[in-house]
Parts: sequence; structure tokens; C-alpha cells
Amino acid sequence: MTDYRTLDDVTVKAKRVLVRVDLNVPLNEDGLVSDDTRLQAIAPTVLELSDKGAKVILLAHFGRPKGKVVTSMSLKQVTDPLARVLGKPVAFASDCVGDPAQAAILSINDGDILVLENTRFHAGEEKNDRTFAESLAKLGDLYVNDAFSAAHRAHASTEGVTHFLPSYAGRSMEKELNALQKALGTPKRPVVALVGGAKVSSKIDLLNNLVSRVDAIIVGGGMANTFLAARGLNVDKSLCEHDLLDTARMIEASAKEAGCTIVLPDDVVVAENFAANAAHKTVAADQVKDGMILDAGYKAVESIKQWIDKAETLVWNGPLGAFEITPFDRATVKAAQYAAEQTQKDHLLSVAGGGDTVAALNHAGVAEKFSYVSTAGGAFLEWLEGKTLPGIAALESSKQKHVSGLDPVINTGFASGTAAE
Ligand code: AMP
Repeated sequence: MTDYRTLDDVTVKAKRVLVRVDLNVPLNEDGLVSDDTRLQAIAPTVLELSDKGAKVILLAHFGRPKGKVVTSMSLKQVTDPLARVLGKPVAFASDCVGDPAQAAILSINDGDILVLENTRFHAGEEKNDRTFAESLAKLGDLYVNDAFSAAHRAHASTEGVTHFLPSYAGRSMEKELNALQKALGTPKRPVVALVGGAKVSSKIDLLNNLVSRVDAIIVGGGMANTFLAARGLNVDKSLCEHDLLDTARMIEASAKEAGCTIVLPDDVVVAENFAANAAHKTVAADQVKDGMILDAGYKAVESIKQWIDKAETLVWNGPLGAFEITPFDRATVKAAQYAAEQTQKDHLLSVAGGGDTVAALNHAGVAEKFSYVSTAGGAFLEWLEGKTLPGIAALESSKQKHVSGLDPVINTGFASGTAAE
């Protein structure tokens, strides 16, 4: 049993359902959506609610307008692309609260879909202002959060609104939470984490959390250089945070205490400079004389494959080298392809996400072959760090209130004749 309620726990027919979604899609120079992954992700929830006869009212932010109306950040430009993905018309309201929102909601029928304008056009959104959250809540009878990617923010549309409406997780949120639960909540062991990327400084909390939860951490990317230097090895001109050598040693010490093995590359690819096809050689990690480490070597990749063979569960965040420039993408590509292969053979549950990881797995051509790839970025990282995500905690406390009979009374709002504002 989950700690939050889902769409299985509620009747939505003829109800006004406020759904927090992620419509923060990338646009190209012509203002067209260049990647509709996020729209695809919310389609199951939106279509299920529409098919069940709810009035589906979508709440979302777009960009960082900082509490002001910025026309280039209007969600109007996302309604047509969304309609194409859903295969259904999508209406639009020029504000997410007040008269325009209320009028638009009154004009739609059961099963219709409406996008409300950017919540961040109001300063109350990011401040999690109670009055603003209440104005949003008055527009709906129920609240559904389907935006895991925004769940690490305590904003009015992700947290505040749950204090006024019975709240549920949407299908995409449910899928993400199930995958995360399987990866680190109650995982099949051994669990191996692959942690790469540029800097230890951005992953200290993550590493400290993982040492007590996983059986091994394979450190790669620029981060591995800091760990190698902390073990007293020469990394010459490599990306390395020399001021964090003690931090790296402390992480190694806590890992040892927790019985978690820290795996560093046995060999590395050293290049003369940071450029595609720069002159390079592969040397043992303790034999670096000059140049910069840009990737893990052949032996390191073999060792990673052996760890993947031992693992039942793999959690991956961050590339193992400078994967954007050939040939320094080799370790990332080989490790990703091997993890995908083992996943497809049902030998491994693989969950990846955060930062450049999705781009790296796409580059390797295997993102589809992992058990789950999170596109949530910051929220995925905070979850890996073991932090409580306010948006999730809010869904859980909504269920608690329900169990103890304190669920907010369903908001009759303006639809039944009461003025909302
Ligand atoms: P992050 O956003 O922390 O996951 O870092 C991803 C970035 O780290 C990518 O742009 C990689 O090119 C970079 N990176 C990975 N390994 C190295 C390395 N050995 N030297 C320099 N940059 C690296």
C-alpha cells in the first residue's frame, strides 16, 4: 500500500480536477516545442481523467517569469502541441486565478481539457502564499499532482493547494515513485550506484546518502579525479576539486563503515587538451604523468561490467567521462549499453536520471532500454540525496488527513454559485 492516494481511489466524473503537470518543454528559435517528452509523460493522466468525464484543468509553470507576466513565457504556446499529443482539443485561460480562470472553467464540459496560464506569473506561486494557493484551490473539487519534476519545490501549485483540496498522485507521478521505491526504497540487492559527472561539490549530499543505502558506488567522470587525488595519485591538469580532498576521504571513510565499496577507475584516458579527438592515451590510474583525464579506460569498463553482473539493481546519475566529445564518450556508452542489455535480459533493474544522464543515455542509444529513466532533474537528485520532497510529503499528509477524517471538505467554489474571489 502506498502512502499517497492515486486515481484508483477517487471518482472524478463531472468533477473539476486541478492537475499540476510539467509543461516546461524546450522551445526552438521559432518558438516550436523541440522535445515533447514531458507532454507524452502527462498524457496517460490527462486522457484517463478526460475519458472518465472529469473537467481537466491543467496547472503548470513555464520558465522563470519571477512573479510577472512575461508574454514569451505564456503557456498558450504549449496548448496546440499538447492537443496534438493528446489527440483532443485543449482550451486555454489567460490567467490561472480570478475571472478569466473561472469563466474558462464554466465554459468547458465534462471530459474537456483546459490549460491555465503560467502559475509563476503570480509572485504567490513561488512564495507558496496561502491566499494564492486558496484561489487556485477554489477552481477545483480535487487536486492531482502529476509533476514529479516540480515536487522538490514547496510552491502554491505543488504544496499549498493540497491544504485545501483532497489530493492524489497522477499516473506519471505514481510511475516515477514506484520506480524510485524499487531502486532505493526496498531494492533487490546488491544495489550498485554509478555516480559520474563533473564535480564532487554538487554531489556531496548524494554520495553521503548513497553510502548507507547501496552496496557499491562506482565513481566516474571528473568526480573520480578528486577521489584519485584524495588517494594521493597525480591527476595533473584534470578537472579536480583540490579543496575537496578531505571531503572525498570522509566519504570513503563513511562508505567503509557502512560496508559500501567505493570503486574508482583502474585505468583512465588522458588527453592533451579538452577537445574532440584530442591526442590521448590510456594509462593505469596511478601512472598519470601529464595531461587531463577525460574518460575511464578499458579495464575500468570491464570492472564496471562485472559490478553490473553482480548487481540486481543499478542507480545511475552522471556520465563517466566527457561524453559530449569523441572518443571520450566510450566508457559512458559501453557501460550504458551493457546495463541496458542486462536490463533487457531481466537480470537487472536499472533506474537513471538527473543532470546530463538522460542526454548521455540518449547518446548511447539506450534510454528506452533502462527500466526507468527520470527526466526530473533537480527532483530526482534531491530524492537521491534522501531529502523529503514537499510535493510528495503533501500528497502523503493529504492521505493521512483523509484517514483521520480531516480531508478538506470538497470545494464547491464558484461552479455551484459561490464567488471564488
Ligand atoms: P554533471 O552535470 O555534474 O552530471 O556533469 C556532467 C558533465 O561532466 C558533462 O558535461 C561531462 O562532459 C563532464 N565531465 C565528465 N567527466 C569529465 C572529465 N573527466 N573531465 C571534464 N569534464 C567531465
